[in-house]
Amino acid sequence: MFSFNPPENFLANKTIMITGASDGIGKCCALRFAEYGANLILLGRSKEKLEELYDLIKPVGLGDVVIHPLDFIKAAESDYAQIAKSVGVQFGKLDGLIHNAGMLGTLCPIEYYPTETWEQTFKVNTSAVFLLTKFLLPFLRSSTDARILITSSSVGRKGRGNWGAYAVSKFAGEGLMQVLAEELDRTSNIRVNSINPGGIRSSMRRSAYPAENPAKNPPPDVLIPLYLYLFSLESKDIHGEALDFKDFDSSKY
Ligand code: NDP
Repeated sequence: MFSFNPPENFLANKTIMITGASDGIGKCCALRFAEYGANLILLGRSKEKLEELYDLIKPVGLGDVVIHPLDFIKAAESDYAQIAKSVGVQFGKLDGLIHNAGMLGTLCPIEYYPTETWEQTFKVNTSAVFLLTKFLLPFLRSSTDARILITSSSVGRKGRGNWGAYAVSKFAGEGLMQVLAEELDRTSNIRVNSINPGGIRSSMRRSAYPAENPAKNPPPDVLIPLYLYLFSLESKDIHGEALDFKDFDSSKY
């Protein structure tokens, strides 16, 4: 398994936004990034869960923490613009944007797929990624070494029956990553990649595989060395790549 042991305060003076920070992988990233000194801007649907997370982070984190509850299904374009504006006012730059929030939608054949769920899943898994990126790019450009990480899935790289809007919207995330990577290559210090975490113990995994023993999958903590590495200078040549946690090998880049 990939290992990376950064020094204490490795993320000091870095400002990182994490979507879907209220649970699972996003919550784990928030807690661990705080320990490494990052300023954090945390988005999630549930205000209560974000407030609980804020209370957990405050005693251990050395940086600032800001929470923004926002339901991506209901959010308007102006909500994203407003969040970006507040990032600009408070921090002036953004060093990392982890698009991690995800909605599973319904698992069933396309023929029976509920249209409303299709549209909602795209709002969360694709439109929110587009809108946040669009409005935050000016602040990412102000960083000397910024990262955008789009969370993918194995069904977003090879389609699988019954995975409907989740799979197709994750394919869209891969497409957005490739388009952005080409646009930002040589014109910015922003590195863009997608990451497939693989099977990780979380509420989403439980919903997708209700009959599975949760202990079969590792907790989100196993991902942290790779996520930290992707914020390091050592990873600055990794750009436009569809990364996979399970077989990540830094010597390939
Ligand atoms: P969780 O269900 O634990 O967390 C999902 C996060 O997304 C929560 O913070 C949730 O907020 C947020 N979210 C869901 N719907 C909305 C919405 N409408 N508006 C705003 N935020 C929303 O899932 P994971 O941690 O497992 O998943 C994280 C990412 O990893 C996802 O993109 C997922 O597709 C991907 N992934 C996960 C795998 C796994 O095995 N766990 C495998 C492959 C990919 P709230 O808590 O407030 O509801």
